[in-house]
Amino acid sequence: MSASRIVVVGSLAFDNIETPRAKVDLAVGGAASYFAVAASFFAPVAVVGVVGRDFPQAELDFFKARGIDLEGLEIADGQTFRWTGRYHENMNLRDTLDLQLNVFANFSPKLPAAYRTADICFLANIDPALQLKVLSELERPRLVAADTMNHWIENAHDNLVKLLKRVEILVINDQEAFQLSGSDNIIRASRRILEMGPRHVIIKRGEYGAIHFSADSVFAVPAYPLEEVVDPTGAGDTFAGGLIGYLAKQPEVTTAAVRKGMVYGSVMASMVVEDFSFDRLRKIDESDIEKRYNQFVALTQF
Ligand code: AMP
Repeated sequence: MSASRIVVVGSLAFDNIETPRAKVDLAVGGAASYFAVAASFFAPVAVVGVVGRDFPQAELDFFKARGIDLEGLEIADGQTFRWTGRYHENMNLRDTLDLQLNVFANFSPKLPAAYRTADICFLANIDPALQLKVLSELERPRLVAADTMNHWIENAHDNLVKLLKRVEILVINDQEAFQLSGSDNIIRASRRILEMGPRHVIIKRGEYGAIHFSADSVFAVPAYPLEEVVDPTGAGDTFAGGLIGYLAKQPEVTTAAVRKGMVYGSVMASMVVEDFSFDRLRKIDESDIEKRYNQFVALTQF
């Protein structure tokens, strides 16, 4: 089967990142960027988002060279969204030091006519009201997946609850799952979130991997053991890109397909953290993905 088209909506950003060993300014980031680059190795991707006039043409050319459709990317007067974060010695933990919304502040996603028939939609972490707007402009997506964050769980709860009724796969981290469900046990938290709508809940746990829950299945995948993590930024969105990209090539979203997709998600995430921004993904091809996939299979065989 040929791969289904994926529409992603979310942030495109400049990130200032400090890890215990290195520091980088103005790295190209944003949830939609990481997702789109990762998913583009599997399926055609179309982006809905906004950047300022300071966003480098070379980066737009890189997206286009990867076959990413940018018709839905608005280039607005002003500066691109900026995020500044610092990682702790334990790189599972980070603090947001600064956030400048810039052109993102007035962002209202508009789907080009050609995007409305897309089969698959990934709603990256933005205001649930905007996630709902994108969803309402799609004619009949066969798969809707979403991410969110603590800010929206606290401040946009009603819209988030509305959204969850229409999401098939929710991909969030463990702290967000605890907050959303009101439970600090991962099994109870997932069960409560499944009751809120999604058929599949996938919980990302940083260097401990990811765990999937559905009505009849629990599945865990480890993170690929790496000697050095250079920059964990974007690992979650890259994981989602590999997962949803893989599912775009499957005729149905079965539990088996979700499990295999999670391994591809982990493969992509393990590569993106080996360098800043998505620089590592600029240098790989499908054979590198298959090689690490096979290493994953060997790692988990017993
Ligand atoms: P992740 O490490 O997968 O959580 O994704 C990190 C990316 O999310 C960075 O490249 C940031 O630019 C972006 N980001 C950080 N905070 C926000 C926010 N409040 N809204 C949208 N994107 C954000």
